[in-house]
Amino acid sequence: MFKKILIANRGEIAVRIIRACKEMGIETVAIYSTGDKEALHVQLADEAICVGPAAAVKSYLNMENVISAAVLTKSEAIHPGFGFLSENPKFARLVTECGMVFIGPDADVIEEMGNKSRARQVTIAAGVPVVPGSEGNLTTAEEAVEVAKTIGYPVLIKATNGGGGKGMRVVEHEADFINLFNIAKSEAKANFGDDSVYLEKYVVNPKHIEFQLMGDAHGNYVHLFERDCSIQRNHQKMIEEAPCRGLSDKTRDAMAADVIKLARATKYNNAGTLEFIVDKDENYYFIEMNTRIQVEHPVTEMITGIDLIKEQIKVAAGAKLSFTQADVKVNGYAIECRINAEDPMNGFMPSVGRIENLILPGGFGVRVDTMIYPNYTISPFYDSMILKLIVHGKNRLEAIKKMRRAIEELFIDGITTNNEFHYYMMHHVDYVKGDFDTSFVGKFLEELAEGKK
Ligand code: ADP
Ligand code: ADP
Ligand code: MG
Repeated sequence: MFKKILIANRGEIAVRIIRACKEMGIETVAIYSTGDKEALHVQLADEAICVGPAAAVKSYLNMENVISAAVLTKSEAIHPGFGFLSENPKFARLVTECGMVFIGPDADVIEEMGNKSRARQVTIAAGVPVVPGSEGNLTTAEEAVEVAKTIGYPVLIKATNGGGGKGMRVVEHEADFINLFNIAKSEAKANFGDDSVYLEKYVVNPKHIEFQLMGDAHGNYVHLFERDCSIQRNHQKMIEEAPCRGLSDKTRDAMAADVIKLARATKYNNAGTLEFIVDKDENYYFIEMNTRIQVEHPVTEMITGIDLIKEQIKVAAGAKLSFTQADVKVNGYAIECRINAEDPMNGFMPSVGRIENLILPGGFGVRVDTMIYPNYTISPFYDSMILKLIVHGKNRLEAIKKMRRAIEELFIDGITTNNEFHYYMMHHVDYVKGDFDTSFVGKFLEELAEGKK
């Protein structure tokens, strides 16, 4: 096993990884920007090393500095967390070339599956259904408009290297196509440094259902069941739950079999997620693979009792998966609310500033993953997600009641968060019934605006 791991990330996920390492007896190295000197991950790690100024491009995304920090501290492996360099094949390769272990799948697999349009080709070749769309990237608007015709409107223009819900444009009518195509391309260039885009049929009001996957270097592939991540705003997840209420066993089994098929086809050797959209008739289509740990991994941990971060580390060190498919059992129900420093009453504008006072919920079945503490200052430089509230109940209703109770206890003074917005959602009749799809949040916001709720 590794003696020392560098965590190439910040925030709650860095804290989460440090905790797993401590329990495994592994020394930890935190990296931080000058804006993060007071951060919790810096305080919890055995060592900490500054990798640059507050702007992420100059610090957390600065490959040379991150690698130098690892070499200097004699770290044997790097855990990339999510976001930042986690899905960057160049970084994964650099880590390996410098004689260290990248805690994630092989760089070639990241390259293959992290690029969305290439992942579509691999998925099609493996015989797993994808949303009808273009074969590879589209360069000219004229070419794209022809492909859109064959797919049929509405279509979705997606950035090949997009992520975090950014870089997508729905086109309802052909007349708007060329304009939106050009906007999407320049947006992709600005956000992801690459203007490649491709087309997919826009599936109206689907559910987002994804499967957690774990693989090792010995050819073992196991899925850890599904998560329903349909509660999204602007294509970004707000609430995730596991398992998916109402999904038939037949569809669940078929999806799980396809997940294993893709894992085998790519020789997938760490934690990953296969994301699908599922229509009313339970037709399912692959949309993308996240070749890393995800924000919502705790809901899967809660229902399976498996520590995914520890498993990632063990597998990266060359061990076989510590469980087989038959060992993975679903126990009860888990829900996660992403608590963001933002103001839902003001267009979800990010909120920054000092946390004056803080009371965190607890008790049986309540888990809080966060990096905040009293007097900690939320800076404008990074993602607005500051806390994940996760609950586990023996059934869905118990989990919902637990989440309501946990949100009532949560008190964050000094900044504005979306916790009350989550509280409302936990009481919405359609949410409680489990009757929702990706259009839920949009409709709810309209209801709020009309003063109905
Ligand atoms: P998940 O399914 O794990 O929620 P997300 O796509 O929301 O995945 O990404 C997790 C985190 O990484 C979020 O904080 C998001 O903002 C960030 N992220 C993911 N992909 C990108 C990207 N290509 N560029 C910038 N940030 C990204
Ligand atoms: P990201 O990398 O930003 O997570 P995804 O491809 O996973 O991008 O899409 C984000 C969200 O957008 C999905 O969870 C889903 O709600 C929606 N979406 C993506 N593709 C489609 C599609 N073809 N039809 C309808 N909705 C889609
Ligand atoms: Mg996604």
